[in-house]
Order: sequence, then C-alpha cells, then structure tokens
Amino acid sequence: RASAEGRLFGPEDDPYILLEQLGKGAQGTVNRCWRPKHRGEEFAVKRIALQKQFRLQRDADRTKERLKAEANILFSLRHAHIVQLFDVIETKEWLYLVMELVQGGELYDIIKNKHLSEPEARYVFKQVADALRYIHSKGLVHRDLKPENILVDQKASRDGLLEVKITDFGYAKLVDDGYSTTLTQVGTPQYWAPEVSDAGMCAKGYDERVDLWSLGVLLYVMLEGVYPFSREEQIKQASFKFHRLSSSRAKDLIRALIQVRPEDRLSLDDCLKHSWIQMDSRSASALK
Ligand code: ADP
Ligand code: MG
Repeated sequence: RASAEGRLFGPEDDPYILLEQLGKGAQGTVNRCWRPKHRGEEFAVKRIALQKQFRLQRDADRTKERLKAEANILFSLRHAHIVQLFDVIETKEWLYLVMELVQGGELYDIIKNKHLSEPEARYVFKQVADALRYIHSKGLVHRDLKPENILVDQKASRDGLLEVKITDFGYAKLVDDGYSTTLTQVGTPQYWAPEVSDAGMCAKGYDERVDLWSLGVLLYVMLEGVYPFSREEQIKQASFKFHRLSSSRAKDLIRALIQVRPEDRLSLDDCLKHSWIQMDSRSASALK
C-alpha cells in the first residue's frame, strides 16, 4: 500500500504535511502531520476518503454530512480531557480533521495485557467521567466510549497516573437532533448498552445514559483486565462476574453503572461523589 507520508493538504501557501500513521479506525486513518510555516507545529489529522470507498454518491454525501457534524461538535468542545479540533479541510477526495496531537497511544494498548491498580484506574475514571459530564452538558452523547478512543498523554502522565483525552466523536450525536444516520455496526459491542445493541447505533430512543453503561464497562475492564461479557445474552441481562477485583466499593460503582434500565444507572454527579472515587486524596488533589 502506497504511503501517504509527505502528502500536502490545506492552503497552498501554508500547507500541512502528512507524517506517519498513528492509528486506524472504522472511519479512516489518523496520521501525525506538521505545518512548516506555522512554527512547525505538529497535529494529528483524521483523513477520510470521501469517494473511493463508496459506489453510490448518496453514501458519500451521507458520510460527508456525518463527518461535518462530527467536526461541528468537536469545534464547540473545550475541555482538558477531550481532544481539541483545530481545522477542517475538505477536498474532492478527502476530508481532513486536524486536531490536537496526543502522544502516548491508546489506553487500550496499556490495558490490553494488564489491569490497572485501583488508584490508576480511579485517576483515569475521574477524567473520563468529568469529560462526559461536560459532553452531556452540551446536549451531546459520545456513544462510542471505549479504551481505543481514549488517548494517553505521555508527557503529562507520571507515577503511573495516566492523563487521558477522549477522542473519536464519529458516533456522537445531539440527544434530540431528530436525525439518525445509517451506520454499519463495527467494532466490539462490548461497550454498548443493551438498548444500543437492541436497536443498533442508528436508532433513536436512547439517550446520554448509554455513555454511563460504557463508563461502567470501561471501569470493569481497567480493573479486571478482561471484558465483562462474552455473550450478547449477558449484556441484555447485565450479567457479569468479578474475577480478581476485591474492593467492594469499586464493585459497587461498577454495578451501579452497568444497569439494564437506563434510569437505574448512577448519574455522573453521583459517580464523582461515590465512596470509591472519594477514597484517594492523592488523585483528588492532582486533578485540576
Ligand atoms: P475511528 O473513528 O476510525 O475509530 P479514531 O478517531 O478513533 O477513528 O482514530 C483512530 C485511532 O487513531 C485512535 O484509536 C488513535 O490510536 C489514533 N488517534 C486518533 N486521534 C488521535 C490524536 N488526536 N492524537 C494521536 N492519535 C490519535
Ligand atoms: Mg475510534
């Protein structure tokens, strides 16, 4: 496959230059890039082919519309734990979303082979919960919260305490925009609440509380080092077991989030007040 490295995009008199690939997801490829005339500043850019992958113009248009919606959402968000979007460039073939570069890889790569300690998991959980609270306050739902979409800021992390930023608003939507998109279900449904798995990503009839379920699964995975569910039936019944976790407060918080009925899930405010969260003063003072 031909490398895209070295390719120019953006304004002719002040272009961006593509560098190596950082990651790949369902929607497109993310590369590092830099802008020579802009003090050589570095960014991450999500690059989505607008035409090649579609046989139908209609599908291309729809994707473009969805991506622009993603861009508009991101533009409006300013939060220490959310990847910031700086620029959107559209050509006939490509859509480029230029964003803040987060160097340190995905949380997924850190937890895929090992679980985190309770203080480590708590530190990540608080940042993600706080970012989610902000997202929800803007009337948005992330809908695809999982460790693949949580980036680790290596420079800011120390003593095993990971500083993280949420990315990938490709599935995010306004709670009541009255508009649903057709999306192929991709990736693991491990983090999807039962009402999402039932109806599919495209359906209406669910709200920001789907993120609470995902947050509970995230906490489980961070502490247990494995997924809570192995069959879809178990998701429908929120049926899971703990294997190595012994802290009853942590278990309680996870159980309070992984609830079948959205109305039974703990709110973000209550999450942040939960006794397991309050246990550690070190991360409380370290968190701005
Ligand atoms: P998709 O919607 O295709 O899943 P993502 O936005 O999740 O795309 O990006 C795919 C991968 O690219 C991420 O999982 C991550 O590894 C990497 N990535 C995304 N955004 C950034 C960023 N701002 N800085 C560094 N790496 C990133
Ligand atoms: Mg992703």
